[in-house]
Amino acid sequence: MTSPVGARIELVAGAPANAWIVGDDEEVIVIDPGAAGDVLAAVGEREVLAVICTHGHAGHIAGAPEVAERDEAPIALHPLDRSAWRDVHSADPDIAMEEGGSFDVAGVTLEVVHAPGHSRGSVLLYCEALDVAFTGDVVTERGPVARADGFPDWGRQLDAIGAHVLTLPLETRLLPGHGPELTVETADKSFSSWYSAGPDQPAAADEP
Ligand SMILES: [Zn+2]
Repeated sequence: MTSPVGARIELVAGAPANAWIVGDDEEVIVIDPGAAGDVLAAVGEREVLAVICTHGHAGHIAGAPEVAERDEAPIALHPLDRSAWRDVHSADPDIAMEEGGSFDVAGVTLEVVHAPGHSRGSVLLYCEALDVAFTGDVVTERGPVARADGFPDWGRQLDAIGAHVLTLPLETRLLPGHGPELTVETADKSFSSWYSAGPDQPAAADEP
């Protein structure tokens, strides 16, 4: 039997976005490989069970097919971000993941939570056993992430943070698509300032 204690999280930081690896010495799930090279080096010989994209923007999906290829791993994306995916890739993702879906790796489960706003198909991946949520561009330490030309739907994004992030246990680590991690507790303390700042002065912007 696989123990949840065996599952761990690795960050491949950087350009163009943070990629996250969840797994043990045998198997992993890769989240948001915006580029493949450093991610594949970090994965090494371990089997890639799936590649999950928190949303369909290029910086989070560009490396997905290359990371998935060796082990013929399925790529998962919420279907509402398929048009963004098609801007970058011709072959569609294998899994149209939706609210309530889940993925198992190394004895732990990642639950899919639909959290639209940054994009219509943005999701969080919540892992209760590891006390973490992968937040993509829904929320980062600097707040909700905009696009280069502004927030696609600021109100909905703030609603998603309030409904789906701040309702998690306060000690939950939030592992974002850009920049350093935060916790639900620190997000909760910043939420009012993000809200009162409004949509016109984004503190953080995703690549176009
Ligand atoms: Zn984005």
